[in-house]
Amino acid sequence: MKLGLFANNKIERACPQLLFAQRRIQLVKLMKFVADGMLGKLARWLRLAGHDVIYIDNLRASAVDQDEILLNLAKLEKRELLTCDLLLYRRARKSGIRTTFIRTSDVVSQLAEISKKSGHKIEINPENSRCPTCNGLLKPVGKEKIVEFVPRTVLKTRREFWRCSKCGKIYWYGKHWKTIIEIASRYNKLK
Ligand SMILES: [Zn+2]
Repeated sequence: MKLGLFANNKIERACPQLLFAQRRIQLVKLMKFVADGMLGKLARWLRLAGHDVIYIDNLRASAVDQDEILLNLAKLEKRELLTCDLLLYRRARKSGIRTTFIRTSDVVSQLAEISKKSGHKIEINPENSRCPTCNGLLKPVGKEKIVEFVPRTVLKTRREFWRCSKCGKIYWYGKHWKTIIEIASRYNKLK
């Protein structure tokens, strides 16, 4: 199988642990979460790492209904609730819902916290990635199919592209991956 975004020499040099992560793909457990309205950044990161995350703000529910929706989704779909609301956390615990109370605002520490609690590593791997915007699965897509949607300079310089199967957003290996690698390295040091 073709190795996606990280099959790039520069990246191999910059972040060998990510390649290591890629080879261990079968050992990574993909988890299901539902995240409260304060955790949008964390939701995007978990999706990028391949986890199935419902982010409450994506559902456009009114603020008064959000807690009930979060609890119901966690229960019905067996998702772990991620929240920084202590009252909601306690309610979930009382109802026997698996939940993690997120104490910090730094996304790297949040990822480390979840990883520690679940006992599973969280690894960014393009083979598994979901769309950070909508949680859809990303599929490799041929250049010829996306010519009209991607800037010409990107088409010239990039060979691999992925399209979200849900919202249609197109992804390629660009500058933002530098941030991703930096965050992943920080997370790896924290674990
Ligand atoms: Zn999407």
